Amino acid sequence: MIIDCHGHYTTSPRQHEGWRGEQIEAHKAGKPPPPRPRITDDEIRESIANGQLKVQRERGTDLTIFSPRAAGMGHHLGDATTSEAWASACNELIHRVCSLFPQNFIGVAMLPQSARVSPKNCIPEIDRCVNEYGFVGINLNPDPSGGHWQDPPLGDRYWYPVYAKMVEYDIPAMIHVSASCNPTHHTTGAHYLNGDTAGFNQLMTSSVFKDFPSIRFIIPHGGGAVPYHWGRYRGLAQDAKLGLLSDVVLKNIFFDTCVYHLPGQELLAKVIPVDNILFASEMIGAVRGIDPETGHHYDDTKRYIDQLPLSAADKAKIFEGNARRVYGRLSATIEKQSAR
Ligand SMILES: [Zn+2]
Repeated sequence: MIIDCHGHYTTSPRQHEGWRGEQIEAHKAGKPPPPRPRITDDEIRESIANGQLKVQRERGTDLTIFSPRAAGMGHHLGDATTSEAWASACNELIHRVCSLFPQNFIGVAMLPQSARVSPKNCIPEIDRCVNEYGFVGINLNPDPSGGHWQDPPLGDRYWYPVYAKMVEYDIPAMIHVSASCNPTHHTTGAHYLNGDTAGFNQLMTSSVFKDFPSIRFIIPHGGGAVPYHWGRYRGLAQDAKLGLLSDVVLKNIFFDTCVYHLPGQELLAKVIPVDNILFASEMIGAVRGIDPETGHHYDDTKRYIDQLPLSAADKAKIFEGNARRVYGRLSATIEKQSAR
């Protein structure tokens, strides 16, 4: 089985994002938001059948761990109330996709975060998504301000209510920023990769893994700059007397394969142990074009893994085994959803 651990619903029916625009306009005008739009099952089916499902079939992958559009989370817009209503609408839509296509999609929740609002307010949404929707993870935004970094670092106890829930439910968090509202940080070209790198560094220098020994985080987009600069982080850990970097982070931090060329994947697999790498493509996402050097889509990452000089057993870990281990509820959910 080939499990893509990083996909977003970038093809949702138009009225969904349309309502978000209206909601934010209403908030600015001090008015209540309009009622949520009607979205039919057929509209959802069409958006998936011509989108993510089609790409899964073309590329030979089986299951996508699926969450709301990341840049659309927009935690810097509105306030805690608008974030709660928007997260609720987005997660409900993911649940509907997973119910319509139970063999192909399993849900991950976006959280109703807002800058300088305690993440405690995310707990009811996590409860709902795990208990009612059967979601297997969360996306945690380390910078809800959208590029101004106004909240404490991920090592701060500020985030601990979310970490306690992750451990209680055996669900990992993918560290994932949303759109940038800071023009110096392009959303997918700089802000995402900065968020990945900063999140890793914040966790590495913290006590989070001592306080929550079984907690698991996925750093997406191949780990941002981390694998390329592994020597720097090893040296920083050594200078700070944290111990060996691999001992400090590798029980708790995992990297996905959203890296859009073969040399990047080769580096990732050379630097990071196979047990810590999860297959992912983020397909129909940030980079949608075809690479003229290969004739294939940049985000068709399975092709790169297929070409790595690894054993079949190691590739099976990357494609399936590691995801089942890191997402503690995944195997049971696969069984449950495939029985439908
Ligand atoms: Zn993403």
